[in-house]
Amino acid sequence: MGDMSETSSTFGGLHERVRNLARTVAAIHADDVDRMARFPSETLAALREACVLSAPVPVALGGAGLTLSEQAQLCATLGKACGASGMVLAMHFSQLACLTRHCGANENFEAYLRELHAHQYLLASMTSEQGTFGDTRTSICALQVEGETFTLEKDATTGSYCAFADAILVTCRRDADAAGSDQVLALVARSQYELTQSSDWDTMGMRGTCSPGFRLKSRAPSWQVVPGPFADCAAETMVPYSHVLWAALWSGIVAGASARAADCVRSAARKTPGRTPATALALARLAAGLQALRQQWLALAHEFDVLDADPDQRAALHGMNWALKFNSLKVNASNAAPQLVHMALQIVGIPGYKNSGPYSLSRHYRDVLSASLMISNERVLAKNADMLLVLKDF
Ligand SMILES: Cc1cc2nc3c(=O)[nH]c(=O)nc-3n(C[C@H](O)[C@H](O)[C@H](O)COP(=O)(O)OP(=O)(O)OC[C@H]3O[C@@H](n4cnc5c(N)ncnc54)[C@H](O)[C@@H]3O)c2cc1C
Repeated sequence: MGDMSETSSTFGGLHERVRNLARTVAAIHADDVDRMARFPSETLAALREACVLSAPVPVALGGAGLTLSEQAQLCATLGKACGASGMVLAMHFSQLACLTRHCGANENFEAYLRELHAHQYLLASMTSEQGTFGDTRTSICALQVEGETFTLEKDATTGSYCAFADAILVTCRRDADAAGSDQVLALVARSQYELTQSSDWDTMGMRGTCSPGFRLKSRAPSWQVVPGPFADCAAETMVPYSHVLWAALWSGIVAGASARAADCVRSAARKTPGRTPATALALARLAAGLQALRQQWLALAHEFDVLDADPDQRAALHGMNWALKFNSLKVNASNAAPQLVHMALQIVGIPGYKNSGPYSLSRHYRDVLSASLMISNERVLAKNADMLLVLKDF
C-alpha cells in the first residue's frame, strides 16, 4: 500500500478507482451491510487498496492533496452505491482535514500523516457526549496532562465505526478547570485506548456506520493534542468539511435512487414503444431537483477551495457569512435529499417500496432520513437564528 502510479494519484485516477470499487464492491455488499447492520469491511479494504483514505494528505507527505470539492466528489460517487460506506469516507475525510489543516509543520504530526498514508489508517470521531445533547461545541470530559502524556475518558453517545477505526479524534475540555466551550481536539490511536460499548445501533438507516455509544479510556503522548483551540478547528475545518462532504454523499444516495427510478421508467418505455411513460415527467422533475442539490455543495466547495488557496484568507472562515453558508447547506441538503428519494419512490411505486429487488428504494430512503438528525437541523438553525440577529451584511 502507499504505492500509486502517477495517474492514479491524481484526482482523475482516484475518482476512476472509486467509481470502479463503488460498482464492483460497495454496491454488491450494500444490502447485506444494511440488513446485518455490519461494517462495510469489503469496501474499506478496497478503499485502502486504492489509497483513497490518504487522498487528502499533502503530496509532500505521500497523499494526493485533494481539495474539498474533489473529496466531496469521491464521497458522492461512493454514497451512490452504499450510503453507509459514503458516510464512513466523509467522516474520515473531515477528521483527516483537522490534522492536515491544523497541525502545521509539527514533525510528529507529519510523521503520523506519512504513517497514515503508508498504512491507510481510518479515523473516527467522538464529538457527542452524554449530557451535552448533540452540542458539539461543549464538552464535559477534560484532558488530564501529566508530564509528556495525557489521559482522557469520554462517554460518547454515538461513535461511528469506532470499533473498526485505527484512531479517534476526541473533543474535550482543555483541562479540568476549563469552561465547557474551551475545547481541544485530541488524537488517540487504537493501541492507546480501551472502548466499552454502552448502547446498540439497531437503527432505521445508516446501519453500516456501526455507531453505538462508547465509553473511551485513553492515554497518549501530549503532542497528539491538535494545536490551538477546537473553536478554530470547528470554524475553519470541521464544520465546512463535514457539511459539504455529508451533503455530497446525501446527493449520492439520491443519485442512486434516481438511477433506479430511471431504470424503471425506461423499462416501462420499452413496453410501449413510441409513447413516453407518464412517470417520465416525474423523472424529469427528480433530475432537476438532483441537479440543484449537487450544484449547492459543488458551488460552496469550490468557493471554499478558492478561499483556501490563499492561507492569509483562512481567518475569513470565522466570519458569520461563512458559518451561515455551511449551516444553510447542511439544512437545505438534508431537507431536500429525503424529498428527492420520496419522488423516486413515487415513480417506481411498489417495486421501490419492497425491501429487496432491483428497484427497491428501502435502503436509500432509510439512510437519507438520518441527514436532518445528524447534528439536528433545529440545532443548526438555532445557531443561524442567533447570527442573523446581528448580521447586517446579508
Ligand atoms: C448516522 C449518524 C452517525 C453519527 N456519527 C457520529 C460520530 O461518529 N461521532 C459523534 O460524536 N456523533 C455522531 N453522531 C451523532 C451526531 O453528531 C449528534 O450528536 C446527534 O445526532 C444528536 O443527537 P440527538 O438528536 O439525540 O440530540 P439533539 O441534537 O439534542 O436533538 C434532540 C432534539 O432536540 C431538538 N433540538 C436540539 N436543539 C434545538 C434547538 N436549539 N431548538 C429547537 N430544537 C432543538 C432536535 O430537533 C431534536 O428533536 C452521528 C449521528 C448519526 C445520525
